[in-house]
Amino acid sequence: MKMLTLLLLAMLALAGCSSPEQGTPPPRKIQVVATLFPLYDMARAIGGEYAEVSLLLPPGAEAHSFEPRPGDILRLHSADLFIYTGPFMEPWAESLLKGVDAKGLRAVNSGNGIHLMKQGKEEGDDHDHDHHGGGDPHIWLDFDNAKTMVSTILAGFTAQDPPHAQAYHRNAARYQSRLTELDRAYRAGLADCDSRTVIHAGHFAFGYLARRYGLRYLSAFPASGDSEPNARQMAAMVELIRSTGAGAIYYEELVSPRLADTLARETGSRLLLLSAAHNVSREELAAGLTLPEIMERNLENLRGGLSCR
Ligand SMILES: [Zn+2]
Repeated sequence: MKMLTLLLLAMLALAGCSSPEQGTPPPRKIQVVATLFPLYDMARAIGGEYAEVSLLLPPGAEAHSFEPRPGDILRLHSADLFIYTGPFMEPWAESLLKGVDAKGLRAVNSGNGIHLMKQGKEEGDDHDHDHHGGGDPHIWLDFDNAKTMVSTILAGFTAQDPPHAQAYHRNAARYQSRLTELDRAYRAGLADCDSRTVIHAGHFAFGYLARRYGLRYLSAFPASGDSEPNARQMAAMVELIRSTGAGAIYYEELVSPRLADTLARETGSRLLLLSAAHNVSREELAAGLTLPEIMERNLENLRGGLSCR
């Protein structure tokens, strides 16, 4: 009997040694998966030290043509929170969630309660406007919308992990004030400019931002995935750029600025980055680039290209 007790004790001791650290294991962090970079950035800020946030979109990947792979579904099995933009940005999200058999998983549609603008562009446009089924999914590019998204994501965090609600509230408030500051900087920084026309050689992403600050916004592609403009459309675009007297052509993130480059050369304009922040590169992700930082750089480039005082 005594021998058996000793043996049991020895086994228990061995089992105890098999964990990498002695003592109590570190508390499990809430596991969060966000589809696009803006949501990832918001979730990372809100979750702070209590969350492990990952980006579903591989770094550098194009957001609109992304389709989740079987490995992504596996990732959701062990997740607590899944955050997406809405049905127009991630049309695959709902069926993905149906296929995930994870009882504890909470899905957060961060676009909830946000009124969507119609997707499209202003003039010289003979494309179909409704590639995304009617709603412009780039909601985070209006700072009020972004704040609503932060609140919605915060609600997801506090519902899923009530013990840390206070910290989540504090972190979200800090992020919200950063967005308020940015909005003020945009308002002041774009108030007095020689030009108010933004010519973007990318897909239509800045409709919300343009509306908010009274800019005229022209994009080369109404939606992502559109084919390159033909020679006639290119000529029309060059004509349009000349007529607006725009000093800069903006190119979008993570794509070759070939089209923007051609337009800039044809019209003698400068080439500047205007990032809609759908995603970032592997290097930027590793360096910890944030959405507010991207928006700061955008403001700088807008002010430079539009000759603002
Ligand atoms: Zn887009």
